Amino acid sequence: MSSDVTRRGVCLVLSAAPGGGKTSVSRALRESEPDLTLSVSATTRLPRPGEQEGVHYFFRTPEAFAAEVAAGDFLEHASFLDRRYGTPRAPVEAALATGRDVLFDIEWQGYRQLKAALPGDVVGLFLLPPSLAELERRLRGRGQDAEEEIGRRMAVARDEMRHWAEFDHVLVNEDFTATVAAVRAVLHAARSARQRQPWLAAFVADLLR
Ligand code: 5GP
Repeated sequence: MSSDVTRRGVCLVLSAAPGGGKTSVSRALRESEPDLTLSVSATTRLPRPGEQEGVHYFFRTPEAFAAEVAAGDFLEHASFLDRRYGTPRAPVEAALATGRDVLFDIEWQGYRQLKAALPGDVVGLFLLPPSLAELERRLRGRGQDAEEEIGRRMAVARDEMRHWAEFDHVLVNEDFTATVAAVRAVLHAARSARQRQPWLAAFVADLLR
């Protein structure tokens, strides 16, 4: 029978404007897909209340981040709201090599770089909010950022949404449950892509003997 060991892992990039629902969709997806590995990014921003080192982010000083960039430790890195964010290379390469799928919560610049770095492995999915008013309501609902920060994030949200057409899949995140189901469907479809299952040729040859 088939073996998943030879299957290539999928890199699923979940992108959205801030407030677009990425974090909750990502959490729900991982609950229903326990084998999905979340890529934990490094950042120079400060931890928000409740965020833990190595779980939500690897929090770095600008100097330490720059040293990791220079050492080639990131698969991609970008600046967002004057802070730097990057995807550590080693855990992703290890996961892909063993056929495990990796989920990324990164913005469009990182997605572009990742797609160039790992052609064929990356599936991009963009979540759009149902309306700008709903986006603002969600950003305010977080209740942890100052008014000025919300204004900046609204502007960034517009910038982010301009890149929707670079993604393979686009969903309007109106109904949370339906969105999670649709994201799962994208992941499952990506897993069964022919090019991710190099073992199939021998398997079918055996069937046709
Ligand atoms: P936050 O500071 O709200 O956690 O994240 C801000 C933005 O940075 C989000 O759009 C998030 O997707 C993006 N981001 C988080 N980690 C990375 C990363 O490793 N690379 C890139 N390019 N963007 C990231």
